[in-house]
Amino acid sequence: MEEFIQIAKKVADEIEKKIKGENPTKFGEEICIGADGTPTQYIDKVAEDVALEIIGKRGNVLSEEIGFIDNGRKHTFVIDPIDGTRNAIHGVPFYGISVAVGKKSTEDVLYGIVKNIPTGDIYEGYKGKGAFLNGKRIEVSKDFSDPIFCLVLGESGNERTWKLANMKSIRALGAAALEMCLVASGAIHAYFMGKESLRVTDIAASCLIVREAGGEVYNANGEILNVPFDLDARSSVVAVASPHLLEVLL
Ligand SMILES: [Mg+2]
Repeated sequence: MEEFIQIAKKVADEIEKKIKGENPTKFGEEICIGADGTPTQYIDKVAEDVALEIIGKRGNVLSEEIGFIDNGRKHTFVIDPIDGTRNAIHGVPFYGISVAVGKKSTEDVLYGIVKNIPTGDIYEGYKGKGAFLNGKRIEVSKDFSDPIFCLVLGESGNERTWKLANMKSIRALGAAALEMCLVASGAIHAYFMGKESLRVTDIAASCLIVREAGGEVYNANGEILNVPFDLDARSSVVAVASPHLLEVLL
């Protein structure tokens, strides 16, 4: 497993370096159509190419733009080369990289890393061994006196989200993996995506990080989330510091 962890870390580091060396005005250029049928932007493509080159044939790859590459391996790297592409394109400093290593679904992910490119912060989850921010152990918040919830608003919201939007402290930050990591580190108390629109590439690493930090991840029906390594599967996501928050959110 150690080899896979080193590869995943290298992918995150090298994508960060590549993106920091690029001209941001090029980030939003549409250069091809991705595996999901939507246009691939320059920033996503250059980031994904870095990942593919580093991984080579040392594992299978499931990535946002290219889809599934079967290299006949037991383990698959599940990658969102850029989490929060729109933030990156517009210069909102909240976007990152997400890499997870597992076999078939989020349930069997053994390692996950999410790196915030503008800050350099590194969130990691090791199955059964905890979650870390820049190498220091993190835990979800246990203080619910002034909870902060990150909601996915705009076109990805629904009736439930609009109701929650009236609560006291709401944020909408536009990068799913990083927002879930904020639940893990105790910065916020919940992340809520009410619509079934997130893919496994968006959440594979951060699901493990939240759980290893003592939180839990559900779908909007309140079921514990387990998403197969399949880009066609779309999911709602409710990541919480404590299950009791489901009573408020669902
Ligand atoms: Mg992405």
